[in-house]
Amino acid sequence: ELTHEQAKRWLLNFHQKVTDNKAYLSELDQAIGDGDHGSNMARGTEAVKDKLGSVTEDSLEAVLKQAAMALISKVGGASGPLYGSAFMAMAKTAKETSELSTLIEAGLDGIKHRGKADVGDKTMIDMWQPVTSALHEDDLTEVTIDQALEDVKPLKAKKGRASYVGERSMGALDPGAVSSGYLFTALIEEVL
Ligand code: ADP
Ligand code: MG
Ligand code: MG
Repeated sequence: ELTHEQAKRWLLNFHQKVTDNKAYLSELDQAIGDGDHGSNMARGTEAVKDKLGSVTEDSLEAVLKQAAMALISKVGGASGPLYGSAFMAMAKTAKETSELSTLIEAGLDGIKHRGKADVGDKTMIDMWQPVTSALHEDDLTEVTIDQALEDVKPLKAKKGRASYVGERSMGALDPGAVSSGYLFTALIEEVL
């Protein structure tokens, strides 16, 4: 069960990790995209942090919804609407349940629906999917995240900017999968 206080701590921790690794995320994006993923996400999570300060309503739905709106309006790039859709879907689901695996699965479905991508396309979905499965089995650890990163490397990008470089994306990490890995490491640290 995710509480609104835990969700706030989770998002603040995510902001910290993204900020600390901003240059690295952009470097990964430089290799197979346009080199802005670190700055996009740093700007977006900074906006989330600012918004959280003004959430007066003590509800999980409100926290997740404010995060979604900040990400959609401030990230820019493909990842903004995708992360935004994930948090918006989680906010909607939070009206019914605060069970963690159900919430994250709703987020995953939100991303798939918005980006029309699936597992194996070398996107953030290749992090969200194994994490969702692990949560369903009550077994999310750092190992899940490290394994997902290993598994995403050999894939050939089929969606987003990285798909333009085709074969050249093989062997590289996907920046969105790495930033999503930070999101779930933050979840492990603050919630599990
Ligand atoms: P942009 O590509 O517009 O510069 P970013 O660099 O911020 O945006 O984000 C790139 C990341 O977005 C990729 O690494 C990938 O994980 C994710 N992504 C791109 N397109 C899709 C999609 N259709 N579905 C899911 N994730 C996607
Ligand atoms: Mg980019
Ligand atoms: Mg861009």
